[in-house]
Amino acid sequence: MNYHSHSDPKISARFGDALLASLAPDGGLWMPDKIPHFSPETTAKMGALSFADCSAVLARDFVDDRFSNADLKSICRDAYDFPVPMTTLSGTILDAATPEIARDYILELFHGPTLAFKDFAARFMGRTASHLMTSSGDTRTILVATSGDTGGAIGDAFLDQEGINVFILFPKGGVSKIQEQQLCTMGDQNLNVRAISIDGTFDDCQQLVKDAFADKEMTKTYSLMSANSINVGRVIPQSFYYFWTSLQIKAAHPGVPIVYSIPSGNLGNLTGGLIAKKMGAPIERFVIGNNNNDPFVDYLKTGEYSPRPSVPTLSNAMDIGRPNNFPRILDLHGNDYEAVSEVCWGASFSDEETERHMRRIFTETGYVMCPHTTVGHLAMEAFAKDVDRDFVKVVVGTAHPAKFADSVERIIREDVPLPAPLQKAMRKTKRVHVMEPNLKSLDNYLAIHS
Ligand SMILES: *Cc1c(COP(=O)(O)O)cnc(C)c1O
Repeated sequence: MNYHSHSDPKISARFGDALLASLAPDGGLWMPDKIPHFSPETTAKMGALSFADCSAVLARDFVDDRFSNADLKSICRDAYDFPVPMTTLSGTILDAATPEIARDYILELFHGPTLAFKDFAARFMGRTASHLMTSSGDTRTILVATSGDTGGAIGDAFLDQEGINVFILFPKGGVSKIQEQQLCTMGDQNLNVRAISIDGTFDDCQQLVKDAFADKEMTKTYSLMSANSINVGRVIPQSFYYFWTSLQIKAAHPGVPIVYSIPSGNLGNLTGGLIAKKMGAPIERFVIGNNNNDPFVDYLKTGEYSPRPSVPTLSNAMDIGRPNNFPRILDLHGNDYEAVSEVCWGASFSDEETERHMRRIFTETGYVMCPHTTVGHLAMEAFAKDVDRDFVKVVVGTAHPAKFADSVERIIREDVPLPAPLQKAMRKTKRVHVMEPNLKSLDNYLAIHS
């Protein structure tokens, strides 16, 4: 598959080159030249495969000839070695053999190693990038500034991936205790992922990464590469779980329309869903939940798009005032507002509404949702009130509540047990280098460790 820049279709690249470059040379976002479409007969067969094997089939059309079918199968099996359950609030798991009568699911995308849906994208990207390095004999250095979550997902995704070194810069004292422990205990002996605690703020970390990329000498010496959320290697795999899970639901609820609700920030997750729908996934509509940072929901309601500075909220991974995948969503729909609003419906919610809803769901059902998932659940409820027909509801669960234990425990007034991967990280000894926010220090450190 070739990709083109959304702002200039004449700028073209193979998948691997689009992945390594992140942005097109004109600053545009890479778009696939053509989205494959599968017939209902073919999709039914793909739904009978395991999630990993179905992903490998989908990936075929999006990558280039440097990947064989066998490569893709092993990349996906290795990346997706954790469950992708759809549960009900009462805890039953959707099982094709014993179809549920319930039509109300949480798609729990948080059973990967860092307990958030970003694992799906990051682990695919890590393995495809490493495959390109091992076949060309090249190496790359990834620099990532993190205020918590992204660094963990990227670090895990590239752990032990050949040809790639990763340096994660986080603000000293500026991430939660659990996040710091996660960041500083990755890997055992063979360290290709290192955490650097910057004596400064998150902005200092971001500035340092920007300065390093702006420094031609450093970019060349270390073959610097970014792994940010707009990378095609991260966007494409987010279509895989929509495609596969919608087929599981269709098998259990034949003939009933399926609607997904996605708690959204940068709209990468939604972009994945829209691509899956274009590929033939039986999804009727997407509901978008925003917190108070709601330029996309405003756009859906009014047709006017006005990005704005972000404001802090409870669902902080969605505190985005200028969603960077918005141009992709427009592009997928021929820049036509009517076409976008036909498939997307949105609503936004305050922290107060989110807290009340999280507490109510917990009190009524015992199910604990992270703040982001709660926003998605609220949006689905609002949508259901707006339409008076039968459909299967799937709320996308984006993170494990234990990742946001501070706020969740305060809201539900109950402890949230740490899942196994976090418990393991809590027991390990931290390894971290402390550094002044200074480009020369970073350069020296990279010189020794990359
Ligand atoms: C990143 C993130 C989101 C937002 O996803 P986008 O693809 O940026 O819209 C929602 N919830 C959680 C937990 C996240 O980490």
